Amino acid sequence: MDPRISSIGNKALRGEPVSAAEAEFLIQLQGDERHELLFWANRVRSAFKGDRITFCSIISAKQGACPEDCRFCSQSARHRTDIETFPLLVEEELTERIHERARSGSDSVGIVTSGRGPTSQEEWARILKAVGETSRACGGHACASLGVLTEERARELREAGLVRYNHNLETSRSYFPKICTTHSYDDRLETIRLLKRARIEVCCGGIFGMGESVRDRVELAMELRELDVDSIPLNFLNPIPGTPLEGVQPLDPMEILGIIATFRLMFPDKDIKVCGGREVNLRDLQSWMFYAGANGAILGNYLTTTGRKAEDDLQMIKDLGLRAGRHGDDHWATEATEATEGTEDTENEGEGRKGTNG
Ligand code: SF4
Repeated sequence: MDPRISSIGNKALRGEPVSAAEAEFLIQLQGDERHELLFWANRVRSAFKGDRITFCSIISAKQGACPEDCRFCSQSARHRTDIETFPLLVEEELTERIHERARSGSDSVGIVTSGRGPTSQEEWARILKAVGETSRACGGHACASLGVLTEERARELREAGLVRYNHNLETSRSYFPKICTTHSYDDRLETIRLLKRARIEVCCGGIFGMGESVRDRVELAMELRELDVDSIPLNFLNPIPGTPLEGVQPLDPMEILGIIATFRLMFPDKDIKVCGGREVNLRDLQSWMFYAGANGAILGNYLTTTGRKAEDDLQMIKDLGLRAGRHGDDHWATEATEATEGTEDTENEGEGRKGTNG
């Protein structure tokens, strides 16, 4: 076995930064050496995150008809996908979905809208109300993914009870122009910096399997480290018919696990969540994502695709000897799990991108 693997693993255990060159070495490991990498990723996850796995749920509050051209996305009006499109849900419907997700066993619930950013004042007022309702329903763990923000809107979101905002970089700066041409990488960075100034936690990651190189994956990780984001969602492309990436060959499950493990060693103390594409790409190896270092996932359905039943994921955690919920949130987690028992998982009513927003 290459001694560099355990040497980098020990470095991560001590909380020392793994370099870009070391990450490039790790992410390309194969066979037994990749298994060794997973072993170290599991040790690091356990040392920094204990036995806790946190789950997020998302609500597709406004879907499709997006003027942007992100090549992976089923919600761009420029692509011929057959998703259902709808404007921002009315208040009653939003409230119902927030409470349904909050009962599912999730630690947080996120309101997600398609588009470059919220449009009218009326729409914005409804979103703020929904954020407040989410915060009350989820013990203060309200999230959102609403696209580009202004300083004022970020402040209003925080005052409404928002704690975390998702805004993915999607890929490396070098590869981004091949994925989106209607806005720039710097536009995305600006929203992230603005969130940090507003003291809102940042959930920011990317999508893998869009034709990017190994170097692009590490470049994205280095950018995220520079930004010092709080949570890193890792999405794996589920090519949607009608999008420009529909014919892309999906990643191999072991390659995905190697990416997750490399990110864990690069970000020992951060939340690493496996989001879009896990069911379709990892298949029977889904439970391995925790061994590869993930400490979170999306529970239930995605935006335009259906996820597993919440109770199946909660059972998987239990079978692995892990526990759902944050440290100190036992009461909340137990309540949520009990509420799920015997509850039919609702059919996927809102579908969309895979936990990523413009
Ligand atoms: S990712 Fe966001 S901005 Fe890009 S096309 Fe999809 S909804 Fe629009």
